[in-house]
Amino acid sequence: KAVDPALEEIRQRLLCVKHKIVVLSGKGGVGKSTFTAHLAHGIASDEAKQVAILDVDICGPSIPRIMGLEGEQVHQSGSGWSPVYVEDNLGVMSVGFLLNSPDDAVIWRGPKKNGIIKQFLRDVDWGDLDYLVVDTPPGTSDEHLSVVQYLKAAGVDGALIITTPQEVSLLDVRKEINFCKKVKLPILGVVENMSGFVCPKCQHETQIFPPTTGGAEQMCKDMNVPFLGRIPLDPRIGQSCDVGKSYLTEVPDSPATAAFKEIITSI
Ligand code: ADP
Repeated sequence: KAVDPALEEIRQRLLCVKHKIVVLSGKGGVGKSTFTAHLAHGIASDEAKQVAILDVDICGPSIPRIMGLEGEQVHQSGSGWSPVYVEDNLGVMSVGFLLNSPDDAVIWRGPKKNGIIKQFLRDVDWGDLDYLVVDTPPGTSDEHLSVVQYLKAAGVDGALIITTPQEVSLLDVRKEINFCKKVKLPILGVVENMSGFVCPKCQHETQIFPPTTGGAEQMCKDMNVPFLGRIPLDPRIGQSCDVGKSYLTEVPDSPATAAFKEIITSI
C-alpha cells in the first residue's frame, strides 16, 4: 500500500513541536475538553512555555467556548493557517473556527473528517511549541485513527485518558486503553474527574458518581497503566468554562485547582 505523502509533510511541520499529547475519553461529558483546556492553561502559566490546543472534536467542538474564543475565525498567513491566540504563548485551532455559527452542526463523513485533521496537522503554522495538546471526540472513531496515525509519524508522547469514577465510564475507558495498546499509542495516564463533591456549607464529601468497582485507580492497577490523580466536582469549573476563563486563575485556592496543578506537573 502506498504511503500517504501527508505523513512526511506532517512530520516536517511538527518538527518544531517538542511534545504532542492526545486527550481521550470513553464517554462524552466526563470533562475531557475541560481537562484539555486547563492542561493548556496550566502549561501556559509558565511564560517560558509555548502551548497550543488542537480541537478535533469535529461534531462537538467545545474548546472555542471554553477558551473564550467563540466567533473567532481562522486566519490564513503565508505559511499556513494561523491559530487563534488566547495569550502570546497559548494558541488554539478548532473546527469550531470554521463554522459560521456555534449552533451549526457538522455533518461530515469519515474521509472529510480525516481530511480536516490532516489539514490541521499539516497546514497550521504552530510556530515553536513545547506542547501541542489534541482534544478528540469521545470514544474510538475514525478521527482517532487519523490523529494517531498522523501524530505517530511525527513522534507522539502519548495519550491522557479522562474518566469519571462511575463504572459506565470506566467500562468505556478499558476499551480506550485497549485501543491505545492496539495502535501502539503510549498511555501517559488516566485522570479521574468529577471525583467527589465537598459541600460548601457543611464540608461533607459526597461521591456523586460512586465507584462500585474501585474507581479509576483500581482499574489502572488492574490494567497496568499510570493513574495520575483525581479532580473533584466544583460548579465553579463549569462557570469559568462558560465565560471562557481559566478556573485555575479564577479560583486559585480550591482543592480542584490544587488537583489540576498536581496532575499537570506530573505529566
Ligand atoms: P467532554 O469534553 O468529556 O464531553 P466537558 O469538558 O465538556 O466534557 O465537560 C462536561 C461538563 O462538565 C461541562 O459543563 C463542564 O463544565 C463540566 N465539568 C467538567 N469537569 C468538572 C468538574 N470537575 N466539576 C464540575 N463540572 C465539571
